[in-house]
Amino acid sequence: MKNLRDFTYPELLGLVSSLGERPYRAEQIYGWLFRRHAPDIDSMTDISKAFRERLKEEFYVGGLKILDVKKSSDGTRKFLSLLEDGGRIESVLIPEQDRLTLCVSTQAGCALGCRFCMTGMSGFTRNLTMAELVGEVFAAISLLDEGERITNVVLMGMGEPLSNYDNVLRFIQVLTDGKGLGFSHNRVTVSTAGLVPAIIRLGKDALVNLAVSLNAATDDVRSRIMPINRKYPLDELIETLRTYPLHGKKNITVEYVLLKNVNDTLEDARRLVKLLRGINCKINIIPFNPFPGAAFERPEEQRVLAFGKVLQDAGYNIFTRQSKGADILAACGQLKGRYEE
Ligand code: SF4
Repeated sequence: MKNLRDFTYPELLGLVSSLGERPYRAEQIYGWLFRRHAPDIDSMTDISKAFRERLKEEFYVGGLKILDVKKSSDGTRKFLSLLEDGGRIESVLIPEQDRLTLCVSTQAGCALGCRFCMTGMSGFTRNLTMAELVGEVFAAISLLDEGERITNVVLMGMGEPLSNYDNVLRFIQVLTDGKGLGFSHNRVTVSTAGLVPAIIRLGKDALVNLAVSLNAATDDVRSRIMPINRKYPLDELIETLRTYPLHGKKNITVEYVLLKNVNDTLEDARRLVKLLRGINCKINIIPFNPFPGAAFERPEEQRVLAFGKVLQDAGYNIFTRQSKGADILAACGQLKGRYEE
């Protein structure tokens, strides 16, 4: 049996044609799946009973089962979902002044092993399907309070989105399709640890925002905390960012997790300024959010401010991400870790 939520519109067109149906059936099914959130095939009431029965022989509509929801005092909601094969993934709803951002996971686990990341420390299971990525959005919608609406989607949860390129791209198509989930490209961001060939590909294939998890200004430090840097070192990554097509957007986002005594000195900040010269970017400083067993500490507030000031004085637009949801283990992988304990 195949999950219908795993089909993009062109794929549904092919599917209905293979079943001997007219193309408008694909539009009907697509609308039911992604605009009207049909929970099953029987809910698609303007499709003939005979065709629904035919569909049910091979297809179903599958979603995620929410296992646990933690709500922080700041309104952040983190939820753990069960996949059909028993795997578990996390997603987070993050409220800010004028937006409500959904952070989705793109893989069960992650193979990249960044040392400051709890998901990276617990290994890789598999890529998520498009249906599971869409399932995260629908699961999040089911948690919304009256009057709430998800305004932004960031692919920044568990996993490296660009390691799951094909499913992520198909998800982006449905997410940003006016007849699908209807998000503007400007409100969707893909965050990567720096897979250079896939970044170049994404620049050609999609119009969404790009965020890069940089976290160091030298190869020595970056390779120590992010093993992927040995494959795609800083000079290659930075050159890729320099030539990345912005598609009319102002900039890309550079994320920098500040780790005490690892990458948080004023010298590190100056090196970062030099490294990013010529790249249209804003910088997101993220003071490390410690998790049980972490090998790093969070720098003191003053150090965070001083680091940011060097970047600001150099003309960069910076924002420091507060520890949203710190009281509910909101760092990537923590809720899953707690659940499995
Ligand atoms: S930070 Fe992202 S890319 Fe690195 S291990 Fe964690 S999930 Fe994977």
